[in-house]
Amino acid sequence: MEGKNILHMNTGNGELSYARNSLLQESVTRKALSVLNLAIKNMADLGIIFSQCVKIADMGCSSSVNSLLVASNIIDIVNKLCEENNQKAPQFEFYLNDLFGNDFNTIIKMIPNFYSNLKKDQGEHSGHCFVSATPGSFYGRLFPDQSMHLVHSSYCLHWLSQAPEGIENNTTNIYIAKSSPPNVFEAYEKQFQNDFRNFLQVRSQEIVRGGCMVLTFLGRSMADPTCDDCIYLWHLLGLSLLDLLKEGLIQESDLSSFNMPYYTPYEDEVRNIIRNEGSFSLDTLNVFQVNWYPIKTNDDDDANAKDFNEPSHIYGKKTAKAIRAAVEPFLTSHFGNSIMDVLFKRVFTDGIQSNLALHTKQFTLNGIQLHHIKASSGIEWLARSILPIRGTTLNFPSNTKFESHPVSTCFHRITSVFAMENLFPSNHFRVCNGKFTNRTFTFINVPPNFA
Ligand code: SAH
Repeated sequence: MEGKNILHMNTGNGELSYARNSLLQESVTRKALSVLNLAIKNMADLGIIFSQCVKIADMGCSSSVNSLLVASNIIDIVNKLCEENNQKAPQFEFYLNDLFGNDFNTIIKMIPNFYSNLKKDQGEHSGHCFVSATPGSFYGRLFPDQSMHLVHSSYCLHWLSQAPEGIENNTTNIYIAKSSPPNVFEAYEKQFQNDFRNFLQVRSQEIVRGGCMVLTFLGRSMADPTCDDCIYLWHLLGLSLLDLLKEGLIQESDLSSFNMPYYTPYEDEVRNIIRNEGSFSLDTLNVFQVNWYPIKTNDDDDANAKDFNEPSHIYGKKTAKAIRAAVEPFLTSHFGNSIMDVLFKRVFTDGIQSNLALHTKQFTLNGIQLHHIKASSGIEWLARSILPIRGTTLNFPSNTKFESHPVSTCFHRITSVFAMENLFPSNHFRVCNGKFTNRTFTFINVPPNFA
């Protein structure tokens, strides 16, 4: 079941639209602001944001104002740093990316308002900002080589490129569940590994050296893939679909062939994929929790506390609406749209409410776990430090790691950096013993004009 052709949030700005039901995602972007600040500050230290035009991409922008709020925040941070450093404010190019099926029209109609607010907030001194749309899957290439300074993504990377194959035995479950056979978890884990690795690989080609990514996505709080925090809503949705099956409203074969293209990794999985892929160094990985449906206030923690006290029937309705805005088009493509009202207005909402009545505390406290990553493409410092040592052997102790990369990964990266810079082709290098076991690199056949 491929996500890329059918996955998108509810369109437009009506009552059930994503635009009107994405408060949770907005609160997530506010939580991530401090790391975004830090990331841009580091880029300022490297002089990267003081260029003529800063290029930023938001991966998975959807159709609410959230992505443009992120753009405003980034511009604000950059402009302040320029002022502090007596630098002229740069121009900005902001690329809104999402899948081809996304409702770009709705977000594009918000751009005039964004431009006029920007002018009001930043004044005439701010450089121009040019917003454009870049449709396509973020698991593939979207931009030219080394063209982006900053890549941002919030609340997206838990969506897989497709539901894993070979899990027909997951029968009435729609995601990993306590009753799923072990191959189901393994298949999901592997699908996430492949997808996330692809994401890192393609972004590393698109980001300038020293550029940065700030990524926030759902994760789970424990290594156990059947812990409650992120399987729970899908479990309830699965039970709701089972009720509809009993009522004869959906077919058994439709339910057994349906699995969510979604995965919430544990912190260690994320670290390992980034380390093994090797293009980025992981600078920060924060984990934080939010409620399923936060109330909008200026203070996030306060919002969670207030939400916690909300009567369960209101909480249940709001949560069901927020989930509907995110998954309705995907469910419709499989089950048809005639069951959606019954599913979301009655069965699913009832399920959440009765669960809340029983386990209010756990449900709220388990909330959602988010992995918040700042990763930079900075391995070239190593390449540069090796440049003057032509034709020599470098010995590294066996436990050496460079910015969290094992040496073996570094070698590939270094040679590709050299090749990219046309200093000499990568086949001018050899690893002295053909293996990386003793962590020794020898660079041979270095051209004579290379100093
Ligand atoms: N960042 C926004 C939207 C989050 S909703 C916010 O914070 O409000 C998740 C979005 O990710 C959806 O719009 C979905 O279409 C998009 N998405 C999922 N998989 C994607 C992929 N492979 N490529 C691009 N966008 C994707």
